[in-house]
Amino acid sequence: MKLEEFQAKKLFREHGIPAPEGIMVTSAPDARDASEKIGFPVVVKAQVKTGGRGKAGGVRLAGSPDEAQEAAEAILGMDIKGYTVERLLIDPALRISGEYYIGITVDRKRKIPVMMASASGGMDIEKVAAETPERIIFQPIDPHRGLRGFEAKKLAFRLFSKKKRAMDTSFIMVRLWQCFNDLDATLAEINPLALLEDDSIMALDAKIVLDDNALYRHPRMEDMRLPTPSDQKELGAKSHGLSYVQLDGEIGCMVNGAGLAMATMDVIKHLGGTPANFLDIGGSSSPEKVVHAMDLLVSDPNVRAILINVFGGITRCDDVANGLVQALSGIDLDLPMVVRLTGTNEEEGIRILSERGINALKDMTGAAREAIRLAREGGGAR
Ligand code: GDP
Ligand code: MN
Repeated sequence: MKLEEFQAKKLFREHGIPAPEGIMVTSAPDARDASEKIGFPVVVKAQVKTGGRGKAGGVRLAGSPDEAQEAAEAILGMDIKGYTVERLLIDPALRISGEYYIGITVDRKRKIPVMMASASGGMDIEKVAAETPERIIFQPIDPHRGLRGFEAKKLAFRLFSKKKRAMDTSFIMVRLWQCFNDLDATLAEINPLALLEDDSIMALDAKIVLDDNALYRHPRMEDMRLPTPSDQKELGAKSHGLSYVQLDGEIGCMVNGAGLAMATMDVIKHLGGTPANFLDIGGSSSPEKVVHAMDLLVSDPNVRAILINVFGGITRCDDVANGLVQALSGIDLDLPMVVRLTGTNEEEGIRILSERGINALKDMTGAAREAIRLAREGGGAR
């Protein structure tokens, strides 16, 4: 689970990492009020679960209430890499004299956490990583001992030669490790770690990604969930026993079994189409599950054709067929649909469908090809 900046900064502060204390708002008038409370200048920052906000125009300085309101109006509703801005963080704007980078993630090859640090922080860190990787220093962290004081100091002195700056930074590094470790994070990052004109060091941006598999150990973090519309859809699907991931293609897929669902997506891609989602209705599918799954597919405006791919094992083809008939009786389907049904109780399933005028194919590749053709023909253009 990714956290937004205002949440990550709060957790940083709780762990003793200096970060400005701003106010999160969701409207331009509230942004104005918040900026007056904080005092000028302020920085108005889009809260979205992606980086690169600065370059996208999602971070603006404001020197007066009018400017703060204007900036908020411009940023709210903005699309940043596919995320719509619904929240803003109003922070005091500080006077920066240098931008640095520190972050902790898991080194998958070495199977241990690693701290990364660079004196070339700021908005171009991706470019630094790609073009001058030698400017990023790595310090592996023993997960049992944690980041040790001398390791942090060694790193910090490579960013700063002045003792005070290096010592302040090494404290932040150790606390960043504690934060990463306490929260079971997979990423904790500060970019920029700013050197301010008063010679103090502060986290001006904050990024935390939590390990979903460890969330049960952090019930408090559940309150930090800020579902976007597609997250909400995925959570809703989960509560009905479906596993659903929204993608941006045109073929809505309903499949039983995660492996078959992946294979179906691969076949669609291989044949030149694009899947609109991953949807696994599970091993034993009741008709109700199929009804919910159908709702998910038809509510996605990108879907141009539906491909249902069922390999009957524990799942019985007649159950799926009954679910489909039930789902279709409740909606006015204006999308072309292709069904591939084979395996347990296949004859019964095909009979149930054909009584409703639905043809089922037995061949997966043929079914995928047909779904792509129908999507192209624009039968489902909405
Ligand atoms: P990102 O682009 O999504 O990583 O957003 P950041 O929070 O890192 O902000 C982008 C840039 O805005 C930073 O690299 C800074 O140059 C600038 N910025 C952010 N906060 C402040 C601030 O308080 N004062 C000043 N002067 N600049 C800031
Ligand atoms: Mn940043």
